[in-house]
Amino acid sequence: MESRPTKYIFITGGVVSSIGKGLTTACIGALLEARGLKATAVKLDPYINVDPGTMSPFQHGEVFVTDDGGETDLDLGHYERFMGTRMSKLNNFTSGKVYETVIANERRGDYLGGTVQVIPHITDEIKRRIKLAAEGFDICLVEVGGTVGDIESLPFLEAIRQMRADVGAQNTVYVHVTLVPHIATAHEFKTKPTQHSIKEITGYGIVPSIIICRSEKPLDEKLKNKISLFCNVSQNCVINAPDVKTIYELPMVLHTEGLDQRIAELLNIWTGAPKLDAWSRIATSLTDKNRETVTIAMVGKYVDLTESYKSLSEALIHSGVANNCKIKIVYVDSEAIESNDAEQTIRAANNGAMVDAILIPGGFGVRGSEGKIAAARYAREKKVPFFGICLGLQIATIEYARNIGGITDATSREFTPESSCAVIDIMESQKSVEQKGGSMRLGAYPCALKDGSKAREIYGKALISERHRHRFEVNNEFRAKLEAAGLIFSGTSPDDTLAEMIELRDHPWFIGVQFHPEFQSNPRTPHPLFKSFVAAALASRLSDEGLTKKVEKHTSTQKAKGTAPLSSDKAATEATTGN
Ligand code: GLN
Repeated sequence: MESRPTKYIFITGGVVSSIGKGLTTACIGALLEARGLKATAVKLDPYINVDPGTMSPFQHGEVFVTDDGGETDLDLGHYERFMGTRMSKLNNFTSGKVYETVIANERRGDYLGGTVQVIPHITDEIKRRIKLAAEGFDICLVEVGGTVGDIESLPFLEAIRQMRADVGAQNTVYVHVTLVPHIATAHEFKTKPTQHSIKEITGYGIVPSIIICRSEKPLDEKLKNKISLFCNVSQNCVINAPDVKTIYELPMVLHTEGLDQRIAELLNIWTGAPKLDAWSRIATSLTDKNRETVTIAMVGKYVDLTESYKSLSEALIHSGVANNCKIKIVYVDSEAIESNDAEQTIRAANNGAMVDAILIPGGFGVRGSEGKIAAARYAREKKVPFFGICLGLQIATIEYARNIGGITDATSREFTPESSCAVIDIMESQKSVEQKGGSMRLGAYPCALKDGSKAREIYGKALISERHRHRFEVNNEFRAKLEAAGLIFSGTSPDDTLAEMIELRDHPWFIGVQFHPEFQSNPRTPHPLFKSFVAAALASRLSDEGLTKKVEKHTSTQKAKGTAPLSSDKAATEATTGN
């Protein structure tokens, strides 16, 4: 039987950047999956860098890592958090990558001496890559990065324009996301920027059938009708996406506006009503005002750029849903701890109050490392729940080696290249790799969990798979010594050559992981480690002296909801057992 052709939804953006094109794309994917369709998404990035791997987090935000080791745009993180489909290297490419392929083809002589041009060579390569990512799917969402009018996105727009003729009008729909600003002095929303944006994109031969209007507040019918009239789209195809309290409300908002229904009609797809119970439950939970707040200190270097910890902060939010609590993240600059006491610095960042848990996220470079080591020591000694992720595991290992293991000069090869006490070191097999970005351990690796460990209990299984992005590893030469000093290596590569997880006995919650569990968390299935960590933070908050009242309050709400009260130990265990 011949398979059905893939249908394409092209998403472009106008007026300004950062209006949530990525989220909109992810939500359309979620809505169509909820209708039983098999959907995937591709992000086209117009910049020249070959991949986002070597770009500064200050400029680019987080690098999202896929199972197959792709270092991709953070929008793929949105796709995975909203959709069931797992992304791969195929789902994100840049102009740099496209040109790299075309130039390599030309050098090999593939074009037989012909003149190599943007049209058709670059546009053909863009279309080839889109079609490759779409293979086997009912729907492929294609998000074009940048804003209409940017010089660098022109080849991408031309490619998606051509695709309508290639795959048929009945198999394509163009969605344009714009901003409808509110002018306070005039007490009015303004549609003119949207009109101009539509005029611009129409000039490239792309005629949007759906306009998604982002706005601060809901738009009334009159405004929608005006946009419909001036922008040449049906009235019911002007979809309003006003600001929401949490991004996880968005699937329901867009569905209520009729977005998935319109898309189904335009693409001539027959499906039943979407199953949206999970999204509605998540939205209700995240907007529940009666939840207890758990405060988590995130001690890192890029504290002023929270976008670089996007998956991490989202993973904490997902675990808040699972634990019925609100998450407050306090970003603490680790360099500030270097000239101050850890507790004082954390308190200063949190209006004088202590936090319920400490997290050290992934990171690179020596800057601020001593401050992170001090934070890990504080968490260990004061029995504050502690989660060390990637660099965070390395920091916790160094701290333990120095203060318990008797290796007083313990460090990482990354911080002190000449050290003879590098408890964190580069792997032999990676030493020869020269190319930037080439020496990293990237993507999913299996990890075996030790029987009887907390890690084993939390995951509820013996073999897991998690995603990595780092160069350095725990140095096996020091493993026996650290183990003898009490550090538990609760997760290792199945052949035991790489330490992947550490934990401590006699501590409410102290776990370090060499991988990035945040990449696999989503609101419908929060990651077990984050769920357990947040439960431990909540338990430590509720068991704090002077908070007895709050414990009572929390217990009675839990009882009213028919769930068991959370006591410190139980909270951690409960969090391991599904959602
Ligand atoms: N800088 C460390 C390494 O390369 C940790 C990287 C990370 O946290 N992602 O090994």
